[in-house]
Order: sequence, then structure tokens, then C-alpha cells
Amino acid sequence: MGALAGIGVGRGIAVARVLRMPEPLEPPTDEPLTGDVDAEHERVRAALDHVADELDARAAAAGGEAQAVLEAAALMAQDPAVLADVRTRLEDGVNAERAVWDAYAGFRDMLTAMGGYMAERATDLDDVAQRVVARLRGVPAPGVPASDQPCILVARDLAPADTATLDLARTLALVTEEGGPTSHTAILARSKSLPAVVGVAGLLDAAVEGQRAIVDARAGTVVLDPDDASVDGALAEREARLAAAAAPLTEGALADGTRVPLLANIGSPRDAAAAIELGAEGVGLFRTEFLFLDAPAAPSVEQQTASYTEVLRAFPGRRVIARVLDAGADKPLAFLGEAREENPALGLRGLRALRANEPILRDQLTALANAAAATEAELWVMAPMVADVEEAEYFVALGRELGLQTVGAMAEVPSIAVLADQVLEVCDFVSIGTNDLTQYTLAADRQLGSVAAMQDPWHPAVLRLVKMLGDAGARAGKHVGVCGEAAADPALAVVLVGLGVTTLSMSASALADVRAELLTVTLEEARARAERALGARSAAEARAAAA
Ligand code: PEP
Ligand code: MG
Repeated sequence: MGALAGIGVGRGIAVARVLRMPEPLEPPTDEPLTGDVDAEHERVRAALDHVADELDARAAAAGGEAQAVLEAAALMAQDPAVLADVRTRLEDGVNAERAVWDAYAGFRDMLTAMGGYMAERATDLDDVAQRVVARLRGVPAPGVPASDQPCILVARDLAPADTATLDLARTLALVTEEGGPTSHTAILARSKSLPAVVGVAGLLDAAVEGQRAIVDARAGTVVLDPDDASVDGALAEREARLAAAAAPLTEGALADGTRVPLLANIGSPRDAAAAIELGAEGVGLFRTEFLFLDAPAAPSVEQQTASYTEVLRAFPGRRVIARVLDAGADKPLAFLGEAREENPALGLRGLRALRANEPILRDQLTALANAAAATEAELWVMAPMVADVEEAEYFVALGRELGLQTVGAMAEVPSIAVLADQVLEVCDFVSIGTNDLTQYTLAADRQLGSVAAMQDPWHPAVLRLVKMLGDAGARAGKHVGVCGEAAADPALAVVLVGLGVTTLSMSASALADVRAELLTVTLEEARARAERALGARSAAEARAAAA
């Protein structure tokens, strides 16, 4: 028994048997067909039937959204056009696996060319093709295997498509060899409140199917084949943590009573209801662009007023921080920003795009002011991607002109931290977007898996920028919050408070864990941890130093 270390997501703990996710299949070879066409055709037909039955059975067991996805995949396996296409290829001398692979690739290209919803389904065909080829090869199907008992899923990494088939009732934890704190696995784990440890070096060599394991997300460790005493200890610890997480929905505070308001990140009125249920004290980031991702043209003032009013109405007497449209890079809007740029993350995005289309910004600020006037919520408004004090001044002046009282800036570009004193003189508050701040500080595209390890907000370079902002906020007597994913990491949340951050905003599912963790430390201890993390030489060292 030995502990493997990685990056923990959340603070949960789980004990169960290892369920290994098969490695992706090697593509078939181009070897010519050697067998008999009729016999191979029959073998493919049987494999297609088997895969369709298996997908149907999993669909029935899954229910909900996953059921529809799996049923659609089963239909794709039974489509007679596929078998006919395979037959033609076999007759042309192509081997069975390659014939299946290429037949599905052809259909995938057709769907992709159709665009829209059909194009989104195209990758599902790849999954079906892999399953059929696996059956022909006699190896386990790729993707998340079915399990009839509680399990700890061990994988190289999880793709977004894997998440639809994850059985949340039986999957107690996720452990991956690859991936960083912003990988799909980490995001899924956070949104479903599943304990996870990602980036565990040596995991795939060490973990054995069916073996017992303890996953401790707070410690970032995985113990394979633990002894009974360790299992008992882990189960007792699990109970204690669950009790803490299920504690009353108190306001966010440290052990010494220092208040740290806990707010939610939302993108729609539906998210607002969930946030309230989970005890959010308000909204720290309302991503308004999420309402208009599919809109072909800029929404009218009336339409926007109605949407914002619906959200604000859910928070009478509470703070709601709305971010004006953040278009570009990972969130393109058809009606705002440049469609084609070589480096969209460094392009005309965020406030820059709005400034270049000022009528759209004016309409939005007007709609926000209307919604504030129609409700009891305390509306604050902020701009994304503000780079310096001139941009901050522009936005604050426009907000005030259009009737908004509390106007601030997001700190996502490192320059704004370097100029924190100037910016805080102008703005009513600052909210740190650690996702983009990390991306820009470390020059690591947040959408690229190959640099995911550098996308780590624990990096001391990021922490030092946060401290510059926290210090400037304290000097100016203004709020400096965090609304990036970093606030949802309980251990990092403590460090952020130690760096001078005054509010934390996160997806609502993370609130309970962060609330519980804050209650375990005093401000003095949080500051001591922050100090140790600041002196570290890497993200991993900072994480360890703050433990
Ligand atoms: C951020 O960059 O940290 C942030 C909160 O904004 P988004 O994730 O929407 O870019
Ligand atoms: Mg951002």
C-alpha cells in the first residue's frame, strides 16, 4: 500500500473498488481483407447488433439526458446504411475493422457538413465506431465501463463525451493520470461534487482493476490496496467531512468570525434558483453572455431588461455582480467581436469588443439599470478583460452616465494587477478572474490540453498578482473578490483570503466544501498559509506549502 499524489479537486473522500477505463483503441490497420466477405459481413453485423443492444441497455439504466444520448447512439449502430457501406468496402478488399472505421468516418463527415445540432452529434459516431471495432477485436469497449457496484473510476483523462455516460449513483470518485485543475475531469468533478484527484503520475501502472482504494481529494492522494485500519479511518473521516458539508447554510466566515461572503457564479435565471438553494449569499459573477451565445443579432434593451430582471428578482436585498458581455476566444458571440483572429485570446475581446461596438454596451448597461430599478437586488456591474486605468475609467464613466451606482473591473489581465493602485482608485471594486489571469500570466491557453499543467492558479506568479490586488484593495478600502475557478478549490480559497481577497464566488455546487474549509482556519492562519505559498517556486510547491 502506498499513496500516489496528484491535484485534489474538492475536499471529499471516497473508499471503493477501482474501475479502470480502457485506453482508447488504436485505429485499424490498412491490411487487406484475408477472410471471406460473407463471413466478415456476418461478423460485423453481429458486432453492430451487440453494440446496439449494449447501448440500449445502458440507456434504459441511465435515464435522463444520458438516456437520449445513448439511445441515439444505439440507433447509429443499427442504421442499415452503415452495414451496406461496410459490405461495399469488404467487397473492395478492405479488412472488417477498417471498413467499419471508414464507413462511420464517412457518415461523420456528412453530419459535420450539415452543421448545427447534427454536427454536434458527429463525435458520437466515433464512439459507436470504436465500440464496434472493440467488439470485432475482442477487447473492452472504450469509454466509461458499466459497473453494478460503487467504484472509483481510474482513467488517463475524461473527455467531455465520457461525462454523459458516467453513472453518478455508482461513481464515488474520479482519478486521472493526466489533466490539471482546469481539465474536463476537474470541472465535472467540481460541478457534481465528486471527489477527484487529477494529474496522478504513475497511476495507470499501479492501479489494478477491482482493487480497493481510498481517494482523498483534500489531501490530493490515492491509496491503492489500503489495509483495513486505513479504510476504517478514511470512512470515519468521510462521515466527519460529510457532516461538515451538510452543516447549516451559514454565511461564509473563518473560524475567528472574519466574514468572507460566499457568492455564486451563474449564467441564467435557472442557476439563480440553484444558487439560493445551496446558500449563496448573492451572485459574484453573472455571465450575461451565456444568455446570448446562440443569438444571431444583439438582443434588444427590452429583451435584456426582462432577462436581467428575472435574475435580480431572485436576490432581494442581496448583491448581484453582473458582468457585461464577455465575447471572444472561448465565448464567441455572433454579433460582437472579430470572427477571425489568429490569437483570439489576445484579440478584440471583452471590454475591447464592447468599446468597438459602444451602442451594444450602452444598451446592455441601460437594461441592467432598468432591471436594478425594477427589483430590490443590489446590482454591481463589472467589465471583463480590463487592461489598464484608462479602460477602467472609460467603463466606470459610462456605467455612471447610464445610471449604475457600483461599477468595477475584472482583474484578468496581469497588467491590471501591476497597476492595482491606479485601478482601485477609479473602480468601486475589483473581481479577480483567476481562469484568465492564470492563462495570461503563464501564457498557457486555457483551452489547450497540452499546456493544462501550466493552467494552475496555485502558481506563485498568480498568487503574487492576487496579493498585489488584495493589498491595493485594503489600502483603498474597496472590495477585491475572486470569481474564477480558484475560489472553488477549498484549500486555495483559504490562501486567497490570506492574500487579502474579501469575497469568493464559485459554481454553487462548490459552496458547501468551501464554507466548511473556511471554518477550520483563523485569518492569522490563512495569512500564514498565503505567505508560505507566495514563497514557493511552483504551483505544486505552493499547494504543498499551504497544506
Ligand atoms: C475568469 O476568467 O476567471 C472568469 C471568471 O471569467 P470566464 O471564466 O467566464 O472567462
Ligand atoms: Mg475570464
